Amino acid sequence: MKAAAYARYSSDNQREESIEAQLRAIREYCERNRIQLVKIYTDEARSATTDDRPGFLQMIQDSTIGLFSAVIVHKLDRFSRDRYDSAFYKRQLKKNCIRLVSVLENLDDSPESIILESVLEGMAEYYSRNLAREVMKGMKETALQCKHTGGKPPLGYDVARDKTYVINEHEARAVRLIFEMYASGKGYSDIIHILNNEGYRTQTGRPFGKNSIHEILKNEKYRGVYIFNRSASKKNGKRNHHKSKNEDEIIKIEGGMPRIIDDETWEKVNKRMAKNKKGANSAKETYLLSGLIYCSKCGGAMTGTRKFAGRNKSLYVSYECSTRKRTKTCDMKAINKNYVEGLVIDHLEKNIF
Ligand SMILES: [Zn+2]
Repeated sequence: MKAAAYARYSSDNQREESIEAQLRAIREYCERNRIQLVKIYTDEARSATTDDRPGFLQMIQDSTIGLFSAVIVHKLDRFSRDRYDSAFYKRQLKKNCIRLVSVLENLDDSPESIILESVLEGMAEYYSRNLAREVMKGMKETALQCKHTGGKPPLGYDVARDKTYVINEHEARAVRLIFEMYASGKGYSDIIHILNNEGYRTQTGRPFGKNSIHEILKNEKYRGVYIFNRSASKKNGKRNHHKSKNEDEIIKIEGGMPRIIDDETWEKVNKRMAKNKKGANSAKETYLLSGLIYCSKCGGAMTGTRKFAGRNKSLYVSYECSTRKRTKTCDMKAINKNYVEGLVIDHLEKNIF
């Protein structure tokens, strides 16, 4: 076991052991118990009543980096000034999986220290939860005034100095374009193509893709509804935009946002989205090579697509570059599904089986 020693000598008590004497006892104890002493922390001539203990605080800080797994003191009163202090720092060490050992005392947890430690634990938890609650309360307050509560505002909006939303005219043009094109029957691919060609970018500065278009078409903020707290649980601090919370937890205020899209366009888009949702995924193909073949031009994955095209609206099943599908920034041609699968199977048959 690796351990650190801590010794303190306070000027206000002339009767206590010197630092040297404390360390001698600790060294002997380590030898007897086959403990490897890796670091020594001392505080000399420090009064027990102040928190001016640089050696001690350094030891506590070092307890987080795995240097040692125990702290050895000569007597427990060297470790801390009072019971509160003792419980507080013991808990800190415990959190880092470090034991406190006293050469002279048997440190079985006394009933009092158990209670004190659990009270401290409870208080720490109370503080952090209460803080979270206060933050939420503050955000709700802000939301009820239809103000921005943090993060990046949606495409089409800026946040004014007083945290209210104002329309960003350049971005709002992209939003209107998306809604109008979709309402007039254009597909995602065409919309993406036109937007990217005209130099519009998403809120994060990237070319538009199917997902970003879809998220925009669904966002009620564009028809003037202020929405707060829609996204459910945050994982790693990020909002999960695909899972919504219960309706009663969400704050929705009609007319709370400056609107970008009129009701008529919104309705048209909404209807078309609902219709397309029903038709999606109705036919399935098995793509043997999906996830296995990549575009030779851009390195993007080649993924399966079914398309009805040509004069007779005949079915074409093929693999297409996913970069091309998403953002139109690659010009790789689609490859016929049967052709490429046949090619791979032939090759496998000849060379492996
Ligand atoms: Zn490509």
